[in-house]
Amino acid sequence: MTKNFDIIVIGAGIAGTSVAAHLAETHRVAICEMEERPGFHTTGRSAAAYEPNYGPPPILALTRAALGHFQSGGYLTPRETVFFAPEGQEAEFAHLMSIQKGMEEISVAAARTKFPLLREGYAKHAVLDAGTADIDVDLLHQTYLKLFRQRGGVLACSSPVTALEKNGVWKVRAGQETLNAPIIVDAAGAWGDVVAGLAGKTAVGLQPKRRSMAVVPGPEGSDFMNWPLVGDVGETWYCKPQSGKLLVSPADATPVDPHDAYADDMTLAEGIDRFQNAVDYEVTRVERTWGGLRSFVADGKPVVGYDKAEDGFFWLIGQGGYGIQSSPALSRLAAALVRHEAPPSDIMDEGLVLGEISPHRFAG
Ligand SMILES: Cc1cc2nc3c(=O)[nH]c(=O)nc-3n(C[C@H](O)[C@H](O)[C@H](O)COP(=O)(O)OP(=O)(O)OC[C@H]3O[C@@H](n4cnc5c(N)ncnc54)[C@H](O)[C@@H]3O)c2cc1C
Repeated sequence: MTKNFDIIVIGAGIAGTSVAAHLAETHRVAICEMEERPGFHTTGRSAAAYEPNYGPPPILALTRAALGHFQSGGYLTPRETVFFAPEGQEAEFAHLMSIQKGMEEISVAAARTKFPLLREGYAKHAVLDAGTADIDVDLLHQTYLKLFRQRGGVLACSSPVTALEKNGVWKVRAGQETLNAPIIVDAAGAWGDVVAGLAGKTAVGLQPKRRSMAVVPGPEGSDFMNWPLVGDVGETWYCKPQSGKLLVSPADATPVDPHDAYADDMTLAEGIDRFQNAVDYEVTRVERTWGGLRSFVADGKPVVGYDKAEDGFFWLIGQGGYGIQSSPALSRLAAALVRHEAPPSDIMDEGLVLGEISPHRFAG
């Protein structure tokens, strides 16, 4: 295997794979992935939703800028979203209505025609987002991987990066190999600060937060696969149809260290209870569960850019709960910044402020 590259990307989730696919057009790129296969951690565990009103301002801009790629590649299947505001969530409802684009308040009765399980008296308000969709995450991820390989990129799985040393170029200890490159991209997901630490960088305070998911049977005899994604505006539960079942999440965000996450049974039980308070439907069994890590820095915005332009360490972490829906735009942006090119104008036109996602915002 060639050991000398122009760029080494650490992590083969959606972040690393998508930026590597772009960079491989112009550079010799390797991806080092510690697991046996790409997408094993957060990327393979998402709710696969495209929600253009969900996330902090930079994410909203990136998500809007990603829409064209999603549509032209056939990655989206439209699915409306309906959020409910029960008593006590008036402030969250007012906030959502003040920041949303393209959402509309609908009557609770109209919401019930879309989601017949809605319990009488639960919701004070309902708000519809008709611009949301399911994302085919596997197709998106595999298509970036295919493009990466077609462009000559090298994917090294079972290659945990355990040491990073700058000696003229970066020397990357990955499994039994040492690879060299002047530029490294930290796309290590929940391990973003761990990898940065190997390179001697100051941590940006990345906090992985566990989110649990349960797969439960849908109501027999109803056409529930066409129902919207539903949840409360206070984000204490949500539910969406998927593959002939219902996914129910307690919308938990429990701080944990980076690890191979799994669902927390108690949290899940409490979340299913909140779901059941909102619906006329009894969850009689849980068929499958999983957990994943959504990783955030304190201001909730991603961390994207060179640590110091001259030393070739590039951050691409902190995508939180929006790393799939933002990835087509974030990867184009990150590839431009890695190459020291101007950011794509269509992304900037959506209102992205680069300083808000820069790693330099943590300095001092
Ligand atoms: C339950 C849940 C629901 C979600 N729902 C949505 C949604 O509906 N829409 C949306 O847009 N987003 C959603 N997200 C968020 C989204 O999944 C993430 O933002 C995204 O997958 C992050 O991608 P990533 O590539 O940064 O991380 P990962 O997919 O975790 O990839 C990082 C990779 O780095 C590798 N790695 C780490 N350390 C090393 C090392 N030292 N050496 C080599 N490799 C290393 C890991 O093995 C991993 O494969 C959800 C997340 C969860 C958990």
